[in-house]
Amino acid sequence: MPIYEYQCKKCELVFEARQKFSDAPLTECAECGGEVQKLISQAGFALKGGGWYDQGYGKKKEAPCAAAGKSEACGGCPKAANG
Ligand SMILES: [Zn+2]
Repeated sequence: MPIYEYQCKKCELVFEARQKFSDAPLTECAECGGEVQKLISQAGFALKGGGWYDQGYGKKKEAPCAAAGKSEACGGCPKAANG
């Protein structure tokens, strides 16, 4: 079943509704009863900044010396070079 995303024009609540294709689109906000508009879910994801997208995506960058297994006297580290 597709999931549709709606935003309330009154309280700006964004919520998802799982509906059949044959179901009529929602018109009322579940919270305040205001008028809602249907969002295009993919655009909605992009606008939100994609929190789920970041998960597992950003691997920690290790300093070159740590990656090479050197714990001391690493001339390759900018910090070490600058003292
Ligand atoms: Zn509302």
